[in-house]
Amino acid sequence: MNIILLGPPGAGKGTQAHRLVAERGMVQLSTGDMLRAARTSGTEMGKQVAAVMDAGKLVTDEIVIGLIAEQLDSATDAGFIFDGFPRTLAQADALGELLESKGASLEAVVEMQVDDEALVARITGRFTCGECGEGYHDTFKTPAVENTCDNCGSVGSFKRRADDNEDALRTRLMAYYKDTSPLIGYYYAKNMLKRIDGLGEIDEVAGRISGALDG
Ligand code: ADP
Ligand code: ADP
Ligand code: ZN
Repeated sequence: MNIILLGPPGAGKGTQAHRLVAERGMVQLSTGDMLRAARTSGTEMGKQVAAVMDAGKLVTDEIVIGLIAEQLDSATDAGFIFDGFPRTLAQADALGELLESKGASLEAVVEMQVDDEALVARITGRFTCGECGEGYHDTFKTPAVENTCDNCGSVGSFKRRADDNEDALRTRLMAYYKDTSPLIGYYYAKNMLKRIDGLGEIDEVAGRISGALDG
């Protein structure tokens, strides 16, 4: 089953994608993670997108569609989770064509609904493990042992994103409402949209997503 997790920055897409990977063996494809990896490894493309990302603006469709296209040959029986992609109508069209060319299809688009106030609280407290990518939060998801990753045990590897500040977040939210939210109507019209309440405990939200996928 191939699915999209759709929602504004901080909605919990990465957190829930990690759970689906662990519980169902699905493969997470996060364009945000791919772009950050390109920056870290210092590729030409990584250098090109750095300032755009730090400002909270969208990277060009051409770049992110290229990144996704490279990954679609990965073996997966359980399916892909598209996380943070597509973000524009052009990307949504491209994804449909790419999947079709592989004889695959999209089964569901889960829209995670979270209000702006909660998004700000989530984003400003977010940090992740630099070793394994596990996500944490200053208040809502703290590691069991200070400075130590619950998932991989690495010590002192936590990091915060340059674009998780109020200014860039405002730009990212506006990009979501302007360029990405039209996808809600796009997938609704294709009868693929599942809307879930993204507020509440991480476990509760996971239960709603499972219900939407299996129901
Ligand atoms: P978020 O936590 O806001 O959902 P992501 O990690 O998905 O953030 O993305 C971080 C940044 O990477 C975005 O603000 C944007 O600059 C760039 N980016 C990621 N995915 C896309 C995409 N599909 N299209 C355009 N830009 C993207
Ligand atoms: P996205 O990938 O949509 O940008 P993340 O999964 O990175 O969002 O979550 C943003 C922040 O909010 C992280 O610090 C994460 O630990 C936290 N978070 C995720 N889900 C919840 C939830 N249901 N309640 C409270 N905090 C959450
Ligand atoms: Zn870790």
